[in-house]
Amino acid sequence: MQIITSLDALKSSLHEIKSAKYSLGLVPTMGALHEGHLSLIKKSLQDNDKTIISIFVNPTQFNDKNDLKNYPRKLRDDIKFLEPFPIEAVFAPSESEMYPEADTRIFHFGNLDKVMEGKSRPGHFNGVAQIVSKLFAAIEPDKAYFGEKDFQQLTIINHLVKQLKMNVKIIPCPIVREHDGLALSSRNALLSSIQRKNAALISQTLMESRTRKHHMDVEKLKQWVVTTVNQNPELEVEYFEIVDDVKLEQVKLWEDPTSKVGCITVRVGTVRLIDNIRYNS
Ligand code: AMP
Repeated sequence: MQIITSLDALKSSLHEIKSAKYSLGLVPTMGALHEGHLSLIKKSLQDNDKTIISIFVNPTQFNDKNDLKNYPRKLRDDIKFLEPFPIEAVFAPSESEMYPEADTRIFHFGNLDKVMEGKSRPGHFNGVAQIVSKLFAAIEPDKAYFGEKDFQQLTIINHLVKQLKMNVKIIPCPIVREHDGLALSSRNALLSSIQRKNAALISQTLMESRTRKHHMDVEKLKQWVVTTVNQNPELEVEYFEIVDDVKLEQVKLWEDPTSKVGCITVRVGTVRLIDNIRYNS
């Protein structure tokens, strides 16, 4: 497994892969790797001849300086974690390598980046689009793997690829959870043990909402989810929305002929955790 930190070194490594006509999978991450990331990596290893993992804490997608400062960085551990797998390369560039000058590009996603995370974190998805488009342009993977845990991000990246007419297939991967249901996240490491224990209520409430859906209208169910999670003094819901899975518009009726996803963000102390659940399957 090569550890590559510069775009030049990346280019020469890619030259061999491309000239041998190997299929190439990319798994973009911000590191502090866990089993959730690993599920994407394993899928890429299955699907492609070669797999590259990028590890880069992208500053332009953080609207909160403290969040950026506190984001876990564990490159050494990450490399150890990846060693047992037949990965071609880890691309872990510095900030100046990816942004030798400020990226002033503004992307337009219509409604998609105006709601939920977009509303709570202004500029976040523009930063995501900046880094993902740079990675796609530099690596030109055949396939790129993204988790459904970041459901809105996945929707926006699908849109971005169409918008830029990029020749990469986006592969969505299901949410990986802890034994008590909490969605795996690098941010879970920032929780105290009591916060960690209480955070399980988030996914447990989402799961139960699937059953309650049969005897509650959409608005009532939304209220029930928010009230149930907020009853725990460690947790504070920032938003819970039930949206269609294409335009991310609010669902009014269960009878609407759309696929529906309930997306939640909860503050646990200073840590924001996100999760979601599908209501059709
Ligand atoms: P991050 O390092 O948090 O930016 O995540 C990198 C990729 O891993 C993103 O596509 C995430 O959606 C995905 N991911 C993170 N956590 C999980 C999880 N628990 N299950 C599935 N995918 C995940």
